[in-house]
Amino acid sequence: MIDIGVNLTSSRFDKDRDEVVAHAQQAGVSGMIFTGTNVEESQAAADLAARYPGYAYATAGVHPHDAKSVDPANLTMIRQLAQRAEVVAIGECGLDFNRDFSPRPQQEAVFEAQLALAAEQSMPVFMHCREAHDRWLAILRPWLDKLPAAVLHCFTGEDQALRDCLDAGLYIGVTGWLCDERRGQQLQQQVSWLPDDRLMIETDAPYLQPRDLRPRPKRSRNEPKYLPHIAQAVAQLRQQPVEQIIDCTIKIPSAVSRYSEGCITIARQYAAPKPRSATLRRIPWPYPFKAPFLHDACVVHAKLILAAVWWQNIHSLPMI
Ligand SMILES: [Zn+2]
Repeated sequence: MIDIGVNLTSSRFDKDRDEVVAHAQQAGVSGMIFTGTNVEESQAAADLAARYPGYAYATAGVHPHDAKSVDPANLTMIRQLAQRAEVVAIGECGLDFNRDFSPRPQQEAVFEAQLALAAEQSMPVFMHCREAHDRWLAILRPWLDKLPAAVLHCFTGEDQALRDCLDAGLYIGVTGWLCDERRGQQLQQQVSWLPDDRLMIETDAPYLQPRDLRPRPKRSRNEPKYLPHIAQAVAQLRQQPVEQIIDCTIKIPSAVSRYSEGCITIARQYAAPKPRSATLRRIPWPYPFKAPFLHDACVVHAKLILAAVWWQNIHSLPMI
């Protein structure tokens, strides 16, 4: 399962980043995307992702909270970061009219500039929206047909907002917010009517530790190792096997991001005897690779894995 939203650059991970990633791997998290929230954090997120090649990726962008301190040079730097192999989406960008840490006109301008950048680079956007649904969607809508994919992370909106997002073709990030017995009730209802092929899961660590973890962790910090707990909660609410949730949440980020997660997905699709459901079969595979050799490399990689699976089946030997 892939955690599409981890703020690993947070100072709350300063002392034990490698352990946090190792614990997530031990818990079954097969990949993660580090969130960039301004130029410095995006740079740090990409640098961190480069330390875990093939496992971690990053977004590059400016959060609405940081919109107040953006100038055109910052956006040029985001454009440069977007060229890096580790960077798979533009964001976190959007609007936050709940905290209003940046003036609203500036939030809107910086959001739209990043949509334009994502369209120019043919990259997905990773978005944030709090209490700004109408304005946010009005700004986003004209760009949708120019973007390979658009993800609204940490969805906490009203029912109508979710319907609008699904009608607009967005992917929805679900966090441990739904494990909150007080604030999460609406999301608990909503998660059951999300289509399989629009669902993503994320921890948003170090924020939003699931409140129903037992035994209660000693510290309040959230970690990507709790993603399986969120997957389990989502599966229960949707009355689906957790394996199906995990399958969806691996395939979708792989399909909408640019680089080598694609290798994993290709291999799994070929190796699987048949797709688990018709819904999964319909997931689009856009191949938004920029350089043809990357695509070729993925196909070769997939064939090698297939050959290994075949060899294992014939000889019943343990896989190396
Ligand atoms: Zn956010």
